[in-house]
Amino acid sequence: MLAHNQFRRMAPDLPKMQARLLANENPFGPSPKALQAMTEAMSESCRYAFFELRDLKKQIAEKEGVSEDHIMLSAGSSDLLLLAAMYYGKPGSSILSADPSYTDLMEAAVELGAGWEKVPLTKDYAHDLDAMAKRVSDNTSLVYICNPNNPTGTIVDPAQLKAFCASVGKKKPVFVDEAYIHYTGDAPAHSMIASVRDGHNVLVARTFSKVYGMAGLRAGYLVAPPAVIEDLSKFASNGWDLSVLTLRAVLASYQDDAFVTDCVQKNQEAREFVYQTLKAMDYEYVPSHTNFVLFPLRMQGQQFFQQMMAKGVGIRFWEFNRQHWCRVSMGKMDDMQLFANAFREVVS
Ligand code: PLP
Repeated sequence: MLAHNQFRRMAPDLPKMQARLLANENPFGPSPKALQAMTEAMSESCRYAFFELRDLKKQIAEKEGVSEDHIMLSAGSSDLLLLAAMYYGKPGSSILSADPSYTDLMEAAVELGAGWEKVPLTKDYAHDLDAMAKRVSDNTSLVYICNPNNPTGTIVDPAQLKAFCASVGKKKPVFVDEAYIHYTGDAPAHSMIASVRDGHNVLVARTFSKVYGMAGLRAGYLVAPPAVIEDLSKFASNGWDLSVLTLRAVLASYQDDAFVTDCVQKNQEAREFVYQTLKAMDYEYVPSHTNFVLFPLRMQGQQFFQQMMAKGVGIRFWEFNRQHWCRVSMGKMDDMQLFANAFREVVS
């Protein structure tokens, strides 16, 4: 599954790293409450997770202000992207997305025979919503918006995105990937779950892998109109693939706003440190609303990646707009210091 994902294909061959800044993980998670909950749940791993699944759906519904039939649970949001690719990516149809953006859904759809229409970002590296709205055609089966966007870290104005969801949603479903929404500092203000609540044809994917720091535990959810959830549920287990341990950890973290606020704060400090490091070396960067920063390189991305890796620092590289780019994830301050030292040595 998800063999199309370039990063996951290369991951088993990666060497051990001292600073793992290549997958946008949150090294401060799981929260102490989640760790405690998992310890307590360990001996109950012989049981199916009836009650945990019921409780989590209930909690999400209450927090997001929707009824439970708007929610699908999943083992991470990657599975939701794949599910959407399978459901909407029919041969003859095409998925519309910004470019560059997070490519999982579209790459899976292309493997299944669908087309992929790419709309360049604005000059500030954000989604060009006007251009995207114009590109929606009869062939379009789904519009994918990653907000905040990966790999650029940019956001779109929530009012504009809401208007986009309302008008484009009348023609085609809009899938909004909100993996990094908490790093905006105000998830409710930026989230398009409000559009689902208002009855628009919008699907919102969330994950516990990022600010909640549980990438290895695998949990996510989709909020969408009940008819969409019902259709998609024919092809997915709707949470039955989540373990009791994962669910207990998620239940303990989901209401832990203090932990989220603390992680967002630490992330801001790391980001500021990266900005200062880059500025001091006269490098530019794309101001980020996420737990990663994208900046233009003055050498080949592959070469930079290999030289950073040789110093124990994992980053990712991109090439677009005839420019090589580095994307560095935020880690603990020690990790960021390792990044800064290695960066200075490699580019000097
Ligand atoms: N969406 C975006 C934008 C991501 O960057 C990622 C992972 O990096 C995912 C979805 C998938 O995350 P997960 O499957 O861990 O929920």
